[in-house]
Amino acid sequence: MIRTHESALEEEARRLTTDYRTSRARFRAAAFAAGCDIESLPIERRGPDDQVLATDIAIRGGDGSAPDGRTLIVSSGLHGVEGGFGSAVQSAALERIDSMPSLRAIRTVWIHAANPFGFALGRRFDQENIDLNRNFLLAGDPYDGVPDGYDRLAPLLIPERPAGRFDLFGLRMAGEVIRSGFAAVANASVGGQYRDARGLFFGGFSPSDWHRRCRERMCDWIGPTELAIHLDLHTGFGPWGVGQLLLDATVERSEVERWRARFGSFPVITSERVEQSGGEKVAAVYTTRGDWGRWSLEERLADDYRYACFEFGTYRPLKVLAGLRAENAAFHHAETTSPAARRSRRRLEELFVPASLDWRRRVLGQGLEGIALGAAQAADSREPIMPPRPLP
Ligand SMILES: [Zn+2]
Repeated sequence: MIRTHESALEEEARRLTTDYRTSRARFRAAAFAAGCDIESLPIERRGPDDQVLATDIAIRGGDGSAPDGRTLIVSSGLHGVEGGFGSAVQSAALERIDSMPSLRAIRTVWIHAANPFGFALGRRFDQENIDLNRNFLLAGDPYDGVPDGYDRLAPLLIPERPAGRFDLFGLRMAGEVIRSGFAAVANASVGGQYRDARGLFFGGFSPSDWHRRCRERMCDWIGPTELAIHLDLHTGFGPWGVGQLLLDATVERSEVERWRARFGSFPVITSERVEQSGGEKVAAVYTTRGDWGRWSLEERLADDYRYACFEFGTYRPLKVLAGLRAENAAFHHAETTSPAARRSRRRLEELFVPASLDWRRRVLGQGLEGIALGAAQAADSREPIMPPRPLP
């Protein structure tokens, strides 16, 4: 395991930026210096100042010291506004690759800014207002429907005008939580809806740009692989400054144990565990449709494909939700340059990538540690390869 020196982390924390252009330039320079091949996938929409918006995929082959067919995938910015954090972790790891033998040993795939539009504009959602982590529906699952309880909350979640500085959203949601319980409200509001195109957590009416690109290209990026470990970097859920590995609810217990064995210092969470232990300290329990992770598992991109949402906590869930709601209302109903829109973007940025240097130091240190642990697991010749699970 690597322990990044405190002063180095301090410097990384100061260097972290939420600016897309700066983040992208640093990532590309770091990937190039580390010897990666870089593929850029621009989207049609331009960003502020007419800048090109693209997802960059950097790929580096292993140095031959690990068994063939071992791959680590590290992705950032699926939820655009979280990208500044994920990008900083990716760049910091690439810049340290010389001192990380396991990372050099295996094939590594670095997906930078899966949602470049959201990253550049400080939004969670993409250019079609799609939440990309609700868009990966499996074959046969129609882009249709809303979660239980959604209809009741929809008028509250999707205001018809920008929210003022003070509104009663927090209070009213707290009332809903008292009425229906936290899990029910969380499921209803964030589980993913396929009806209101200007709403929150909209999963789309069809596969998004990013979804289609993954379908076309992901197998090539990963290459022929026996064991792939995918860490998808996120922020905004869980205790302040704490990294957690969130596994898909359908993974088998043996897989949960394998993650725990390697990532002992990080909580490894599945909804099953939460249900069984009752009082487990998790901020919310909700199930979602259209996760990228579940899709990746079902696609069988490798013989043994393991995916975790590597999630770093910031603020309380209702506070985060209120910020998403306000930004979404301003995005759809106010001028981009209006004070209401600017205020809502600043607020969202703080909710997902807090300015606190202490938070930044902590999450950067844990992010680097998680990547080193993932690489060590992928590179280990003794790591058992599990057969693909049966399709449901
Ligand atoms: Zn996220």
